Amino acid sequence: MSCPVCKSADVLDLVDVGDMPILCNELCPTEEVAREVPLGAIQLCFCRNCGHVFNGVFDGSKVEYSPDYENSLHCSGMFQRYADDLATHLVERYDLRNKRVIEVGCGQGDFLSSLCAAGDNTGFGFDPSYQGGNDDPRLTIRPLSFSEVEGKLVGDLVCCRHVLEHIDEPTKFLRALASKLESGTAVVFEVPNVLFTLRDGGIWDIIYEHCGYFSPSSLRHAFQLAGLEVHELEESFNGQFLVVHAKVSDTVLTAASEDASLEELAASFADTYRDKVSQWRKELGDAHAEGARVVAWGAGSKGNTFLNLVGKGVSAIVDINPKKRGKFVAGTGQPIVAPEHLVEYPPALVVIMNPAYETEIAASLRKLGLEPRLLVA
Ligand SMILES: [Zn+2]
Repeated sequence: MSCPVCKSADVLDLVDVGDMPILCNELCPTEEVAREVPLGAIQLCFCRNCGHVFNGVFDGSKVEYSPDYENSLHCSGMFQRYADDLATHLVERYDLRNKRVIEVGCGQGDFLSSLCAAGDNTGFGFDPSYQGGNDDPRLTIRPLSFSEVEGKLVGDLVCCRHVLEHIDEPTKFLRALASKLESGTAVVFEVPNVLFTLRDGGIWDIIYEHCGYFSPSSLRHAFQLAGLEVHELEESFNGQFLVVHAKVSDTVLTAASEDASLEELAASFADTYRDKVSQWRKELGDAHAEGARVVAWGAGSKGNTFLNLVGKGVSAIVDINPKKRGKFVAGTGQPIVAPEHLVEYPPALVVIMNPAYETEIAASLRKLGLEPRLLVA
């Protein structure tokens, strides 16, 4: 087996996660459908050459994104503020005013809209899961995957958020992107930060759709190997994301050297993972034994992994995205409910899936007159 970023065969086994839903953000119409979604195996590996973490048994042919796929996080005020701040920052940094911006994998175009509004720009975006209906006159969005987009892409900035981790050959993808762009074009990518998983115990970020988990080192490797010169690489969103600023280079770039502390983190990850899983099984087992009603909050990727790995006894999962209400969690079948649902069925314990939203969730519960015990997963 070789690393999907740098092709090195110097690879360590990290942890066997087992079978998980292939599309964790797919909206399931019934509990039965939810319990019968296709599963895929996850065996995490670590590349000692470039510091990349990846699913060594990933099968890309199993994953097919469609308009039933819903992973927009824009219903959260906090996430919206983060995205707006990032858009403003990019407009300032790249002087994007009356310019043309391109977004690869733009979802429903929320972020592209923010980028265009912040600098009076026009935007072109594409995404196979685009459902249509974004009526921002500054945008053109096509329901296409990257390989279906023909010809050169001409723009002042190309951005791509939370896409690269879904691609089984990321370096090849970046090379193909670079070949469609003019030399010197600015490129900004955002991906989940594997340090949040390895260093901060964010094990619920492991999902089948993410075949690759970038560290600062592996992200830099992928870019440089693809002819994209990295200028800056920063952590964002409480350390959960990495943002890389690069530009298309016409010279051959050398890859950066490896960070030794990463390998130590990787080597201890199997223990971190097992401790966390057993701690949560005990916590939820105790709650069940006491007859306490437990709900989770946040039916995104983290919520799906949490429920599939440890939370089969959890009653329901809350989500503020109205598109998810009345649907069921892929793999385990819990209903996805609105916060108001908890007034009628008050929980004793609410497990918060993402620490970044703890304050926002606590405030919502207070507003509903509820005071359950809160734990961050
Ligand atoms: Zn590698």
